[in-house]
Amino acid sequence: MTKQVVIVGGGVIGLLTAFNLAAEVEQVVLCDRGELGRESSWAGGGIVSPLYPWRYSPAVTALAHWSQDFYPQLGERLFASTGVDPEVHTTGLYWLDLEDEAEALAWAEREGRPLSAVDICAAYDAVPVLGAGFQRAIYMAGVANVRNPRLVKSLKAALQAMPNVSIREHCEITGFSHQGGRITGVETADGMIAGDRVVLTAGAWSGDLLRPLGLELPVEPVKGQMILFKCAEDFLPSMVLAKGRYAIPRRDGHILVGSTLEHAGYDKTPTAEALESLKASAIELLPALADAALVGHWAGLRPGSPEGIPYIGEVPGWQGLWLNCGHYRNGLVLAPASCQLFADLLLGREPIIDPRPYAPAGRLTGE
Ligand SMILES: Cc1cc2nc3c(=O)[nH]c(=O)nc-3n(C[C@H](O)[C@H](O)[C@H](O)COP(=O)(O)OP(=O)(O)OC[C@H]3O[C@@H](n4cnc5c(N)ncnc54)[C@H](O)[C@@H]3O)c2cc1C
Repeated sequence: MTKQVVIVGGGVIGLLTAFNLAAEVEQVVLCDRGELGRESSWAGGGIVSPLYPWRYSPAVTALAHWSQDFYPQLGERLFASTGVDPEVHTTGLYWLDLEDEAEALAWAEREGRPLSAVDICAAYDAVPVLGAGFQRAIYMAGVANVRNPRLVKSLKAALQAMPNVSIREHCEITGFSHQGGRITGVETADGMIAGDRVVLTAGAWSGDLLRPLGLELPVEPVKGQMILFKCAEDFLPSMVLAKGRYAIPRRDGHILVGSTLEHAGYDKTPTAEALESLKASAIELLPALADAALVGHWAGLRPGSPEGIPYIGEVPGWQGLWLNCGHYRNGLVLAPASCQLFADLLLGREPIIDPRPYAPAGRLTGE
């Protein structure tokens, strides 16, 4: 049996990895250089679907579908055990004036997803606050959003109640300790933490941590800015998306509008330019937001990876070193399946889906 697993990075991926492993291994140590869940996993919108699911590879689709089906029970289980409700809010999603509507509908037919074209008048009836002038709509029923800051809070509470999980916040991992190609733990400013398995779940920072081992992992930070409005609880009944920008209703009437896609290194400063651009998109989608209270504006760093396909599995040539990172724009939707698959692989169980597309082997340079 695996004795001690050390997990490096406590975003949604690290938290859920710890949660899935805790019942199966002797000890789990979850380290984050800041507070748990305060980076991308806090900053994201929480749509439980890729923005344009038909534009992704089957590898992303397989993880997304498994997770989408699993989210409601995950939300209920966490709420029941911690008292913190991740608010999995099933609203459906309207895409407006899509260029690739035919591809979307063909994909839905193939994949058996409940996505269909709707008369634009029916879309305006369903979402009376929608801006004027849209010509076409497609709608997918059953799409939810999760209140990601609460999801990470409830996962943290669940882990705090597990006697064999040790949480170390403000604990920066500076490197890996190893002996003859085998990883034996992680290095911190306060010394080494031993582990017979080390899992890298450090989001946008994962590549930096591997570099001292001579490995190049193509994961890079992609900045995303969001704004937040507060409206009446029943202001927006569904999520809506046009021209790459979306509005997400929370249950209490908060409306998130996102997002930008910027290659700006590790800079997380919200900018006036993005604020104006997001406000303009918000008002085009939902004109009444011009008079709503703007209550937040922030940025987060997505762990960008080629085609958004995460790395899930053991690193070739480094026994005991495992990856679960690179979820790019979809880390919240992909988290349940990624972390279940990860646990299956680490524990030697039958995997929930074919693990080959996510295997690190062949996708790193310097292996
Ligand atoms: C604006 C925006 C909108 C988004 N919208 C959605 C959406 O609607 N749906 C969706 O599915 N996804 C969305 N995403 C993407 C999603 O947020 C990410 O894919 C996901 O949060 C990645 O999770 P993670 O745990 O890998 O990374 P993170 O949450 O970034 O966690 C990584 C953790 O590692 C820690 N760390 C880093 N280096 C070290 C170190 N050396 N030592 C110790 N700890 C370290 C960090 O402090 C951090 O807490 C969005 C992202 C953004 C920015």
